[in-house]
Amino acid sequence: MTDCVFCKIIAKELPSYCIYEDELFKVILDINPSSTGHSLILTKAHFENIYELGEKEASNIMSVALKISKNLKEALNCDGLNILQNNGAEAGQVVNHYHMHLIPRYKNDGIKIKWTMEKPTEEDFREVMKKLGR
Ligand code: AMP
Ligand code: ZN
Repeated sequence: MTDCVFCKIIAKELPSYCIYEDELFKVILDINPSSTGHSLILTKAHFENIYELGEKEASNIMSVALKISKNLKEALNCDGLNILQNNGAEAGQVVNHYHMHLIPRYKNDGIKIKWTMEKPTEEDFREVMKKLGR
């Protein structure tokens, strides 16, 4: 993709702080990190979101996430770690090239990842299950 910032990083047309690379992925430090060590796993090929993600990338990304998570924990001594992956503007996706966020968390870091906890009825659950074909 000619106009994609992450494709440009993969092609080395733009600089990045690369912390890991293999055949399918490049892992870089986020340019506007939420916390120290906030990293992004980028697919080398351009996929807009999870719905388009290649099978090979889908089956390999978690082992990269595991490797990087352990590395972040050991190197930065973080107290926790959030893994986030946004799909679509409504979900907060800004860069339309598939990527996974690894966000190290530290005591009292003030980061808030929040949603409300609703209390659906039994009927509500049944309706969702029906829609999902279960
Ligand atoms: P998302 O909202 O999931 O699309 O996240 C996009 C992320 O990409 C944001 O956290 C940005 O800070 C990050 N980002 C955008 N441009 C760059 C860049 N050139 N290098 C590193 N990270 C970037
Ligand atoms: Zn791209």
